[in-house]
Amino acid sequence: GRPAPGSYAASTSDYSTGEARPTERVASPYPTDDPILSRIGGTPLVDYPESGTGGDIALKLEMENPTGSMKDRIALGIIRELADDGRLAADDVVVEASSGNTAGAVSLVTNRLGYDSVLTTPAGTSAQKIGYVRSLGSEIVECPNVDSDDERHYRTTAKRIASERNGVWLDQYSNQLNPTVHYKWTGPELWEQAGGDVTHIVCPMGTGGTVSGIARYVTEQSSDVHVIGVDAQQSNISASFYGTDPGPYDTDVEGLGKGHELPTMWFQYVDEVRSVDDERAFVQTRRAAADHGVLVGGSTGAALAVARDVASDQPDARIVVIGCDGGEQYFDTIFDDSWMQERGYRTE
Ligand code: PMP
Repeated sequence: GRPAPGSYAASTSDYSTGEARPTERVASPYPTDDPILSRIGGTPLVDYPESGTGGDIALKLEMENPTGSMKDRIALGIIRELADDGRLAADDVVVEASSGNTAGAVSLVTNRLGYDSVLTTPAGTSAQKIGYVRSLGSEIVECPNVDSDDERHYRTTAKRIASERNGVWLDQYSNQLNPTVHYKWTGPELWEQAGGDVTHIVCPMGTGGTVSGIARYVTEQSSDVHVIGVDAQQSNISASFYGTDPGPYDTDVEGLGKGHELPTMWFQYVDEVRSVDDERAFVQTRRAAADHGVLVGGSTGAALAVARDVASDQPDARIVVIGCDGGEQYFDTIFDDSWMQERGYRTE
């Protein structure tokens, strides 16, 4: 439930040591003088007290990146790594395939750095996500929603466009720079903010880049940290992780797995993958807004559900949850009662 009026102001509780977490920005491995790109990273880590649980939960607000998700980090980091290595020339076209937040992130970064860019998207990509691409001036190629072995698939199309136009395909679904950017950036940043006082990391998994990079970094700092990847019940990442039979790919939660293990998932650093059903992810997303005043997307709702379970089971837990994107993109879906009811989800 909601806190009593004034209870936050009066509270002296703090996630880490009783001292305030650092509010100054943690150094970026990709420093830049650009006034917009320098706003990527350095996102806040805020207390997220769940009543009725013993453990502490802190939420990392990745929606405070300029285009509203942690994907701004990989767009900037991958492009910088490729450019520094001589694999991306100034007049090369940057190409990426994305149904979601990566599209806007790549559009922003290429806009600021002066690269031409092409984004391929599958049919059904939300108007809001396409809006970033259009308004920031990237070229958009909308592809039919077909199986991944069909040559019209949005990833296959991105690969083809990159070769036809002598471009560079970022390929977040297999590029090792995706987890590497989080290993160099998101991991150290949250570790420093939490003063190393972390027992659990809970992070949604799509490409697995975010959880993998963070997991590798925190595991190198302390072998005691337990890293939990979060998946939708019917998106089958946990089936890959545990070697069980996958079911049909069928989730309404944007951002979570695409059905199987990917090279960007460094399972060796991840301790556990927990699956959350779509309804629970959405109910938790709505509670985050209604009870905590925090607007998050459905993948973060799924992670908050897992964090709540851990905090209930382990009163000493000090949990960091990665909040991947904000709720503003989901007003006409998760936060819309009729959208929820049409799909048979509770609207509590
Ligand atoms: N949540 C949202 C909203 C996302 O857009 C993504 C990216 N697909 C994820 C979670 C998963 O992040 P990652 O690809 O790094 O595993």
